[in-house]
Order: sequence, then C-alpha cells, then structure tokens
Amino acid sequence: MKTVNARAVSGLNKSFEAITIERRDIGPKDVLIEIKYAGVCHSDIHHVRGEWGEETYPLVPGHEIAGIVSEIGSNVTKHKVGDRVGVGCMVDSCGECENCLQGEEQYCLKGNTLTYADTNKYGDGQPTQGGYSTHIVVTESFVLRIPEGIELATAAPLLCAGITTYSPLRHWGAGKGKNVAVIGLGGLGHMAVKLAHAMGADVTVLSRTLDKKSDGLQLGADNYYATEDEATFKKLASSFDLIINTVSAKVDLDSYLGLLKLNGAMVNVGAPGEPLSVNVFSLIGMRRTFAGSLIGGIAQTQEMLNFCAEHKLGAEIEIISADEIDEAYDRVDKSDVRYRFVIDIATMV
Ligand code: NAP
Ligand code: ZN
Repeated sequence: MKTVNARAVSGLNKSFEAITIERRDIGPKDVLIEIKYAGVCHSDIHHVRGEWGEETYPLVPGHEIAGIVSEIGSNVTKHKVGDRVGVGCMVDSCGECENCLQGEEQYCLKGNTLTYADTNKYGDGQPTQGGYSTHIVVTESFVLRIPEGIELATAAPLLCAGITTYSPLRHWGAGKGKNVAVIGLGGLGHMAVKLAHAMGADVTVLSRTLDKKSDGLQLGADNYYATEDEATFKKLASSFDLIINTVSAKVDLDSYLGLLKLNGAMVNVGAPGEPLSVNVFSLIGMRRTFAGSLIGGIAQTQEMLNFCAEHKLGAEIEIISADEIDEAYDRVDKSDVRYRFVIDIATMV
C-alpha cells in the first residue's frame, strides 16, 4: 500500500479538505501514475452535491487525469516508467461481455468500474478514489497514452470532456457537409466545438446569452446564437443534422428538437439529476432521434487523443491550486469558467 495526499469531501455539502488515502500495491498488470493535473468536471460537482444519489465518504473526485508513469507491474507491456499517460472515467470492466469485446467498455454489461465513487469490483473490492490526488494505480489497459505535442495540463480534460463529445460526434457522423449544434459552452461544450470543427462540420453554438460569442467563434464555431432570445428558435427551425446537448441542468428539450432537420439526432451528454421529458410529436413529425451517450471506449479514447495531437487541440484551461477547488465549483455553477478548471497536483502537499 502507498499512502498519498488527496482532496476529499467527508459528507454532503462539505468543503474539500486535505486527507491521505491508500493506493493498492501494484499487481502484475498495474501501473502507478504520478498525477500532474486533474480536470474539474461538472460530474464531480453532481457527485459532491449528491445530485446523482447517495455517496460514500470520503469522496475523492477526479476523472480527468494526466500524469507520468512512475512504476509498472511485472507483466505490463503497454506502458513504461516515464511515459506521459492519462486516465478517464473508468479504470476497469469485465472485459468479456459483448460490449467490452466491441471496445465499448463504458457500456460493460456487468458494469465498468468508475474511477471514483465506485468499488473496485474486478479487483480488491475497495472503494475507488479519483484524480484529486497525487498518485493512482490503474490496470494497464485503462491507461491511455498522451501523445507528444499535447501538454499534460491541456490533455487532462480530454479524458472526459474530450471523449464524451468526440464519441457521439463520430457515432452520428459529424463531418463535412453536416450542421452540428452544441448546446452550452462549458467544459464539454467547448471541446465539442473544437472537435466538430476539426472534423469539418459547420458548427453552431447555442448558449444562453451572447457573452461568450467571441470565444465561441475563436474555438471554431461558424455561428453563435443566444437561446434566451426566442427568435433563435424560429430562425434555426429544422437546421441541424446533429445537436449535442451538454447542459448540466434541465432544459426544454422540445424547443431544441424543433431545430433538427428530417432524420436529425439530438444527443444528450449533459446529465442533470432530475428527469427530462420529451413530447413525442417533437420526434415523429421529422423522424427525429433523441439519444444519449456515455463517455467512449478505451480504443476510441486513444483515437481521440491522437486526433487532438494531429489537429493540435487541447482544452482551454484555468489552472488552480489544490486549495481552490471549492471556489472553482462555485464558479462552474455560475458558468464562470473558461473553459475547464485543472488542478495543479504539485500544490497538493
Ligand atoms: P459545465 O462546464 O458546467 O458546462 C455546462 C454548460 O451548460 C454551461 O457552461 C452553460 O452553458 C450551460 N448551462 C448551465 N446551467 C444551465 C441552465 N440552468 N440552463 C441552460 N444552460 C445551462 O459542465 P460540463 O463539465 O461541461 O458537464 C456538462 C454536463 O455533462 C454535466 O451534467 C456532466 O455531468 C455531464 N457529463 C456527462 C458525461 C457523459 O458521459 N454523458 C461525461 C461528462 C460530463 P452556457 O453558459 O453557454 O449557456
Ligand atoms: Zn467528466
């Protein structure tokens, strides 16, 4: 066992505090990673605020992890000491079910093991603790290579915000000749804009206001509209092949579904705790699809990292120290982040 520094909450609505946690001894297939940066995802906030149900404590969030391999097990072949690596939202899966065999480990039929707020069900049965910590031990097949050319700090958010938007963009065929809209210009939204633009799509941001318009256009959007303006919904009716909804709160889905063309699809990646509802007439009139998507598989996550390196893409980040996490959460709540907070783990002393 290795005792390492971390930041955790000890209960619902508690502030972050410094604690130590135990990381398991590395097994033959394990990699010990010295974490350099950890992104702050809105999912971390949903967990800490109890919006997704009951939690166990202490809770160490963090599933946008970038660091350096510092030790490897005797049978590790994919990584070596000194490699630049990342870990995303899951650290294991059954590896045998139909979905795992197709490289869709996020949809493991027996349940994958989440990086935190889960138990290590295919291993020692201990609670998993996330990336707001100095080190993590992960089985080698769930450790991604971060290509040279992407800085570790800007790579960290790719491990969740990047893959969560890349995967549906690929699945629903974003590319040249496709009109793609992104609802919400936050952590996921800004990556969706960059990625869809790099794939060659015509990209529209649908943000509540025009406050971030110049940023949006700089990130690669071709068009930018305020959804607080009712005229937007009239003007853009039946315009898009694909809409990616990244909003962390409840929105009126029917208004947005009306913006899809014939056969268009709206994919919800935003995951508010409360249910969303759809009027079926918003779908049947134009044979529209309303769908959801969860992160992405390991192979596709590596593909996304390579794509980002090739297109010189990383997240837009604001680096914070380990003692600024509570403040960062408050700012994310107010959409006052440009566009992802990333914790500098060197400050976690
Ligand atoms: P974020 O940085 O807070 O961005 C969310 C954006 O949604 C905000 O920037 C804001 O955009 C918009 N928004 C926020 N509150 C709103 C409201 N009340 N009404 C309308 N728009 C609102 O969050 P994130 O880290 O990108 O995460 C977004 C969501 O995706 C979260 O629910 C998270 O849990 C979920 N998620 C899902 C997956 C998955 O696998 N499906 C993976 C990661 C995260 P504007 O200011 O531009 O309007
Ligand atoms: Zn996330």
